[in-house]
Formats: sequence, C-alpha cells, structure tokens
Amino acid sequence: MTDCLFCKIVSGDVPAKIVRESAGTVAFRDINPQAPTHVLVIPRVHHPTVAELAASDAELLAELVREAHQVAVGEGVAETGYRVVFNTGAQAGQTVFHVHAHVLGGRGLNWPPG
Ligand code: AMP
Ligand code: ZN
Repeated sequence: MTDCLFCKIVSGDVPAKIVRESAGTVAFRDINPQAPTHVLVIPRVHHPTVAELAASDAELLAELVREAHQVAVGEGVAETGYRVVFNTGAQAGQTVFHVHAHVLGGRGLNWPPG
C-alpha cells in the first residue's frame, strides 16, 4: 500500500533502526519506546490486523511470532520475560493499520496493562 507508513519502512522509503530481517518479516525499534526493549515486528506484505493475517496466511503469522521470539533472544530478554502485543482496533490503541507485534521487555511489565 503506497500510503502505509510500515510498507514504506519495508521498502526503505522511511528510515528505521532495523534489528532483524527474515524472508517474510522486518523488525525495527519503536520510535517512541515504552520499555528498554521495544521492537516492532511486521510482515513485508500489507495485512491490516493480526486477525486478518491469521485468516489469510497462518504460516506468515507463525513466522512473525518466531521472529518476535528471536528478537527477545537477541535483546537478552527471552529468559527474564517479554510481552508480545498486537493492538487491534482504535479502542485498543492501534494507530498503524499494518499488523505489527510489539516486543516489550527489559523491565517489570504490569498486568493488566493500561
Ligand atoms: P500501535 O499504536 O499499536 O498501532 O503501534 C504503532 C507504533 O508504531 C507506536 O508504538 C509508534 O511509536 C510506532 N511508530 C510510529 N511511527 C514509527 C516510525 N516511523 N518508526 C518506528 N516506530 C514508529
Ligand atoms: Zn502496509
């Protein structure tokens, strides 16, 4: 999608601090981090939400989750614990409608989240 911010990060038209790449995904640092580790993992192809991705390409969703774990390993938070968040819809705080997994860690994470 030409007007999608995260499609532009995939294409390189918008710069990002890339952490990891796989055949189907790109992981980059969130511009407004909410924890010492805050990385976004996105599919290279545009899907608006995690539910839509699950319905149309379950293997790509699995790759996204595997990559989220590898980000946590690389950031040194896989053992201490990390959270993977898919905000879905406006009331949940989704502002970019290109599905993205937030990988958060490196501090105690409150439950329930706000
Ligand atoms: P959400 O609110 O769940 O849709 O998450 C969108 C996330 O994208 C937010 O945490 C933003 O801080 C982050 N974000 C927005 N623009 C950029 C950007 N250019 N590079 C990296 N992260 C971004
Ligand atoms: Zn997109």
